[in-house]
Amino acid sequence: MSQGTLFIVSAPSGAGKTSLVRELIESLDGIQVSVSHTTRAKREGEVDGVNYHFIDVPDFEAMIKRGDFFEYAKVFDNYYGTSRKAAQTLLEAGQDVILEIDWQGAQQVREQMPNAVSIFILPPSRDELERRLASRGTDEHAVIARRMRDAVSEMSHFNEYDYLVINDDFTTALQELQSLVISRRLTLATVSERHAPLLDALLS
Ligand code: GDP
Ligand code: ADP
Ligand code: 5GP
Repeated sequence: MSQGTLFIVSAPSGAGKTSLVRELIESLDGIQVSVSHTTRAKREGEVDGVNYHFIDVPDFEAMIKRGDFFEYAKVFDNYYGTSRKAAQTLLEAGQDVILEIDWQGAQQVREQMPNAVSIFILPPSRDELERRLASRGTDEHAVIARRMRDAVSEMSHFNEYDYLVINDDFTTALQELQSLVISRRLTLATVSERHAPLLDALLS
């Protein structure tokens, strides 16, 4: 079975990456999102094992020591990380995998997997980013202010990514993400590996 493709999706908090990725994996077969580990507090409505694996700092640090993380980073004073096993198992089963991670994690992944496809999602304006962070209704005022402050430094890494998607109209941004995943599945390398018997039969 051929390996799936690893997609990295980054964005400043509130740009819409979680909502877009959720719709993307519902609209296409053969693609899954890797569930990260984090030490941040669970938001109302979040489910352990679905949105994140919520663990405490000593457990996270023990996982770092054991080398369990494919990548990890500190974002807004909390640890976030992708377990090596989770991502590898899915890729080896031929699934495309999305990592919703920050720019520091993206750099670590690119070093280990140069074939990963990276996508940065931008909001249509700063005002709209702030409006979305506030309207999501999941974070305290101080948390929103902190995330707005960090947005510019997160966005300053946009030029390290292969693709940029501006999430102004949600449906348009979703279609753009779908196009990126589908076009990746149509590359010469992927099709000739996945459809080797067909190519043999056609050319024999
Ligand atoms: P949201 O982006 O506003 O929904 O906020 P979150 O608290 O879910 O995520 C905070 C930051 O952590 C974002 O920049 C994410 O991209 C990043 N993040 C989430 N999971 C991971 C991970 O597994 N690894 C790394 N490196 N970053 C992560
Ligand atoms: P992130 O995961 O990047 O922090 P979310 O997916 O949680 O962002 O989105 C932040 C808020 O903005 C949510 O309330 C979401 O419903 C809203 N949102 C996302 N995309 C759009 C869009 N294109 N237009 C308007 N609101 C949006
Ligand atoms: P939130 O706390 O709002 O869920 O996420 C905040 C940020 O953490 C997001 O921008 C997200 O991209 C980042 N993040 C979430 N999971 C991971 C992860 O596993 N690794 C890294 N590096 N960043 C992550």
